[in-house]
Amino acid sequence: MKRFLLIFLGGIVVSLPTWSQNEKIKVTVLYTGTASPLEGSTIQGGSWFKKFPMVHPAFLIEHPKGNFLFDTGLGKTAKTQVQDMPWWARLATRFEQEETAVDQLKNLNIKPERIIVSHVHYDHVSGLADMPEVPVEILPQELEFTKIKGASPAVFPSLFSDKTPWKTYELERKEYEGYSKSRDIFGDGSLVLVGMPGHTPGSVGLFINISNKKRAFLVGDTVWNSEALNNGLPKFWLSRKFADTNSDEVLERIKELQALHKKYPELLIVPSHDAKAVAAFVDLMKL
Ligand SMILES: [Zn+2]
Repeated sequence: MKRFLLIFLGGIVVSLPTWSQNEKIKVTVLYTGTASPLEGSTIQGGSWFKKFPMVHPAFLIEHPKGNFLFDTGLGKTAKTQVQDMPWWARLATRFEQEETAVDQLKNLNIKPERIIVSHVHYDHVSGLADMPEVPVEILPQELEFTKIKGASPAVFPSLFSDKTPWKTYELERKEYEGYSKSRDIFGDGSLVLVGMPGHTPGSVGLFINISNKKRAFLVGDTVWNSEALNNGLPKFWLSRKFADTNSDEVLERIKELQALHKKYPELLIVPSHDAKAVAAFVDLMKL
């Protein structure tokens, strides 16, 4: 729970936020695949001679009050599903699969109670088909987005079925860390969703507050490459056209992330596909 610790310093009372009640939260990264595009395709001004290591993770969050998956990564039928994509998009987003989230969960002997999706691009929701009984929590505008034919080459019918157990929710008009809308998942400030429209209309990010030193922010695909945050750079223009629904809004999101980093340099901002950032997140969660 976010509380304020009062410290008396030479007659001045200062308050520091603490999240010391959340040590029981466990976070596990389930890697479901990798990709190695040229860096230049991931970020404006990137190198066309260097590859950029990417991953396709699902995040398992275990809280004393319940568990959930944040995204699913690539599922068992990913290679078949992507046949629905235009050939050029399939070529641009080639991936190598690893063990699926559903199999890794089986090995861990964990049944996910719910899935919350950062957004509906195939590399985040492909595994929904492997867990058809688990409710999928999504913003209404993101669910609408799945129904618009041709809205994005990364969203296509084979990802979903009539039986996908969608469960829409609304974010509250409650400001959180500079974001105007938020949802405190378990009501204790440990896991907070915020609206991050731009990459898709109903993209959300997830704050994970375990302790003052163990805080992270999963930002989905707002950026693919952490470098984008250091330099305030968008994706490569063609990737922007292909992947971002509203690139002006994405630029706003990048500015917000830069301001957040300035305010909380110790907060680890994690773009879903940046292998280095996700590895740093794994290390942070082990502390
Ligand atoms: Zn995406």
